[in-house]
Amino acid sequence: MRRKVIAGNWKMNKLLTESDQFVDSVTGSLPKDDNVEAIVCAPFPFLPSLVKKAEGSSLKVGAQNMHFEDSGAFTGEVSPAMLKDLGVTHVVIGHSERREHFAETDHSVNKKVHAAFNHGLIPIVCVGETLEQREANETMSHIEAQVRTGLEGLSDEQISSTIIAYEPIWAIGTGKTASSADANQVCTYIRTIVKEMTSENIAEELVIQYGGSVKPANIDELLEQPDIDGALVGGASLEPDSFLQLVEAGAK
Ligand code: PGA
Repeated sequence: MRRKVIAGNWKMNKLLTESDQFVDSVTGSLPKDDNVEAIVCAPFPFLPSLVKKAEGSSLKVGAQNMHFEDSGAFTGEVSPAMLKDLGVTHVVIGHSERREHFAETDHSVNKKVHAAFNHGLIPIVCVGETLEQREANETMSHIEAQVRTGLEGLSDEQISSTIIAYEPIWAIGTGKTASSADANQVCTYIRTIVKEMTSENIAEELVIQYGGSVKPANIDELLEQPDIDGALVGGASLEPDSFLQLVEAGAK
């Protein structure tokens, strides 16, 4: 059975003390269950403190973005080596907000995914269609291009440890969730593409999350779907209680 992965994506929220308090209040209460993994993906300035505070607990700490180069003249950027050095384990790559506001493309996503593996970081690669694409019946072709280009050139082993987050853009922060059946259909399709790129075994190991207005009230139904292995959660990951409920749902 694939493990469930619940990742909070705090986006540009919280201050350092709030971030520290969050970790202090969740670490002792996380389910002791190897079948669920809990990650918080926090703004860069909070990462050193979060890593320290999460030490000795099962909580993992992730970043929300990074550059693909190891170092150099890239003012304002953060490298994968810096994240690794801090003790960060995961990094969100190609979130739709990065694609929309910071011109990230499938090609830059691919470079970042390679860079993450080169530094021992696990990428959470985001894919998802706009409402226009869904209405024009272009969801599957768009997702296929994002997955194929995003994962291009990775070894089978790297693909099997990648986490893919399917996040329909129209469902992010809008309160509109894709129906669990629709979300599962796309996740199944992603698994089929990965099977074509690798093998049935690798595709079966791949963790595919759903993201887009996930909350304690709807997570059970989503996780009951056979190809949804967890959630990438924005708004509902900001409060410790709600985050813990989401992780507990993953342990059911
Ligand atoms: P949301 O965000 O849960 O607030 O919709 C999800 C995401 O952007 O990862």
